[in-house]
Amino acid sequence: MQDSADRAFASASSSRRGTDEMRAVRKPAPHVLDLVSYDPKYIPAEVMVSANENPRDVPDGLRAMVMRAVRQVPLNRYPDPLANGLRDLIAQANGLDRDQVLIGNGGDELLLDTALAWGGPGRVFLNVPPTFSVYEGNALLTNTAVVEVPRRADFQVDEDALVARLSRGDVDFTILTSPNNPTGDTVSESFVRRVLEASDALVVVDEAYFEFSRKTVRPLLESYENLVILRTFSKAFSLAGVRVGYLLGNVRVLSEYKKVRQPYSVDAISQAIASAVYENRSEFVFGIEQIVAERERVYRQLKRMDGVEAFPSESNFILLRMADASAVWSGLLSCGVLVRDFSRTRYLENCLRVSIGTPQENDRFLEVLGDIVASGKSDGKR
Ligand code: PMP
Repeated sequence: MQDSADRAFASASSSRRGTDEMRAVRKPAPHVLDLVSYDPKYIPAEVMVSANENPRDVPDGLRAMVMRAVRQVPLNRYPDPLANGLRDLIAQANGLDRDQVLIGNGGDELLLDTALAWGGPGRVFLNVPPTFSVYEGNALLTNTAVVEVPRRADFQVDEDALVARLSRGDVDFTILTSPNNPTGDTVSESFVRRVLEASDALVVVDEAYFEFSRKTVRPLLESYENLVILRTFSKAFSLAGVRVGYLLGNVRVLSEYKKVRQPYSVDAISQAIASAVYENRSEFVFGIEQIVAERERVYRQLKRMDGVEAFPSESNFILLRMADASAVWSGLLSCGVLVRDFSRTRYLENCLRVSIGTPQENDRFLEVLGDIVASGKSDGKR
């Protein structure tokens, strides 16, 4: 891998030199050369059910309020580096102090900050695959060693194995995702407690989708300094395009995060939008409830399809497994339905993930998938 990446870089550099006399640049850091950049595989389609977004945009009345707030933002001034107004709103809602909340440029930034602060050369990240791929990417980017406790065949966390691995004491941080992306399952509070007690590693519980499972380990923050909780505005609150996430954690832990974060990562416009949305978050309750109801309806229909294995989900997406999944993915796309293709991902062979859309979008997905599966059965191929 290293050799082939080296050669690719060398040949790209020399052919450039040969054609337009541009001076070649030296190689990037060795651990970067082999990395593959994140590709959300976003292709425009009629039914976009691939990225776990909220199918409904911010409601019109609230959108008008958001626009008024944006109009008042001074554009010539740097934003409040810590987004204190938004921190206060979130702290208050969670019964915490401002210093126990940290805002980031999406959950993604806070995940990178986790690897910057708790990872690095000589440090160890414990991953629980299959899970959100960004975790491992951040470890590689920061030269952090990755050890794994893979999920069981039914995609549940192997609880005893995870606790046993942590008990060895060499792990610096781990991430438990609840609900997990892309498998949809949650972890119990009693298990998280066991994990927190197994070592002094930092344990991030990624609750990006917790509004759909209605489960949180927030009460454990009082007793465990080694716990941080990650949340986002991208899913339940329809703000994937705005990029705001946040951490709940202990003051000492968050002060370490402050050392590695980009000082102005959360721009003033995003702060204004997220604050207006958070203050009016009751407006999203109906949409969340409808997603949960639709998830159950879609799951029931999928269970009835021969040849399709659907995994139970407490989130706003469902993981599916079937023969020839990548051909099914193409068949869905050719009918205007974009789902996420994991068919060639380690531990997720032959899996696709569908996000819950509007009832009409879900119907369209079910109809097209049903046709593909039925035709596959009748002629023996897809
Ligand atoms: N955690 C999980 C499990 C996710 O699936 C995502 C988004 N795909 C994130 C964190 C980050 O979301 P964002 O950066 O949009 O806040």
